[in-house]
Amino acid sequence: MNSKPKARVLVVEDNPANLELFLDILEMGGYESLHATEGAEGIEIAAREVPDLILLDIQLPGIDGLSVVKALRSMPATRNIKTIALTAYAMKGDREMFIEKGFDGYIAKPVAVRGFLESLKEYLRSPNRSACRATD
Ligand code: MN
Repeated sequence: MNSKPKARVLVVEDNPANLELFLDILEMGGYESLHATEGAEGIEIAAREVPDLILLDIQLPGIDGLSVVKALRSMPATRNIKTIALTAYAMKGDREMFIEKGFDGYIAKPVAVRGFLESLKEYLRSPNRSACRATD
């Protein structure tokens, strides 16, 4: 059986219970994972490891998620990494807001395992923001 290399996903989440849940689900889905519990650490790992996708909590101590994604988009090494917001406050119209802020999309918390893995698969398959902009 030929297997594709596993996608690597960085989770930046300060809540230990949520972080553990996300890491468990990623393992279940066959993904490799990296994690950080603070924004600055997340930026550092993203720049060093260049994961395939970043799941980024919005409410973080210190540098919050919106500032983190702004920093990621400003650096050549991390500019094109797909970055998905993790938010407990998703509402109608938020997708546009998150795209505007530099995200590729969002996943609302709390998450259900199956829906979460499906969203992840979809995001990994879809073109990233820069590809979208290039065809504008
Ligand atoms: Mn948080």
